[in-house]
Amino acid sequence: MSMNDTPQANRVHIGFFGRRNAGKSSLVNAVTGQDLVIVSEIKGTTTDPVSKSMELLPLGPVLIIDTPGIDDEGALGEQRIRKARQVLNKTDVAVLAVDAAETEHTGGELSGSEKELIALFREKNIPYIIAYNKSDLLAAGSASRDKAGPAQANPVTTDAGPAIFVSAKTGAAIRELKEQIAALAKTEDFKLRIVGDLVKPGDFVVLVTPIDSAAPKGRMILPQQQTIRDVLEADAAAMVVKEFQLKETLEQLGKKPALVVTDSQAFARVSADTPPDIPLTSFSILFARLKGFLAAAVRGVTALDHIEDGDKILICEGCTHHRQCDDIGTVKLPRWIKQHTGKNPEFAFTSGGEFPGDLSPYKLVLHCGACMLNEREMKYRRDCAADQNIPFTNYGIAIAHIQGILKRSLGMFPGLLNELQ
Ligand code: SF4
Repeated sequence: MSMNDTPQANRVHIGFFGRRNAGKSSLVNAVTGQDLVIVSEIKGTTTDPVSKSMELLPLGPVLIIDTPGIDDEGALGEQRIRKARQVLNKTDVAVLAVDAAETEHTGGELSGSEKELIALFREKNIPYIIAYNKSDLLAAGSASRDKAGPAQANPVTTDAGPAIFVSAKTGAAIRELKEQIAALAKTEDFKLRIVGDLVKPGDFVVLVTPIDSAAPKGRMILPQQQTIRDVLEADAAAMVVKEFQLKETLEQLGKKPALVVTDSQAFARVSADTPPDIPLTSFSILFARLKGFLAAAVRGVTALDHIEDGDKILICEGCTHHRQCDDIGTVKLPRWIKQHTGKNPEFAFTSGGEFPGDLSPYKLVLHCGACMLNEREMKYRRDCAADQNIPFTNYGIAIAHIQGILKRSLGMFPGLLNELQ
């Protein structure tokens, strides 16, 4: 990704699902206008989800995800199905590719696995459209078309949901399918709210960003870039300093900042150097709010005060490259937790798209800032923990709690202080 690209987590995630050989991969290529995937006549060519960031008109920046066929059999098939289900957890809009010619033989009825997919879309509140592909193979007045409605390019409403007849081969109704995807995406709220609703035009915000060995060479990390952008979009001004420059900067400014936002690792020093009447928070807290799990994270962090010897804590990182987060999750947090609790818990670690469905072995799930994960994926992980009654929090909130400054860093969200009781 270049610095000018929309971050992946902020793109509308469009997942393509379907049975093997429904022409799903050809459909993806027709919609994107690119050879995103290998198309083969052999069933089940797509073995792993394939994703690509792109601009999809009339929608804008999207992440297209092509998933393996859902009806695969055997051990490899089960693995593909599990991966397709994982993709569902981050899908904002789903396209179900159905072989229109095949449904000719079933009187327009969908197969069991297709119905199962639709049930999952509904259960997870994912807006979807059924794309009856290979419509070029259908005769006028065919059973499939009659089942779904009149033979035309416009979308139709069926018992199974909104549907459209398309042909990846001829390009028929592909434009209309894209318009439908865009319309479904617009029903979702993708607007960023990092600090924009916490400051007024004319305010200024001080951002504290240590530049240490963990910082990537030559650039700011994503949460910092996004926060600066959001401050500017609110017609406020952003000043960026290293942690040791903060005290002097605040003393020299003629006006109090509306807010100081710091990297969690510099919390203790920044809290000491920021006068008590200036609101202070962290990038982690702002991004937990953005991803919709701040309240749960604040509630969850109190579990740290009840950890016993041998309790298991799951530490999750949202990506597999650890450059941005260095050893916070794997080394520092375990050490700080042991110091804070005086106990000797066990730690387990996951990274990237992996997230265990069964959280029952754990007393607490501690998640990274999730800058690479979209809101829907984080909601899934949070709900997974909530459903199993497992406390769930994130690095920054845990660090603030351990350092005794969580209450202060939640000062602009007074409703959340009750969660700490
Ligand atoms: S580990 Fe988490 S917070 Fe760190 S870069 Fe990856 S997704 Fe972002």
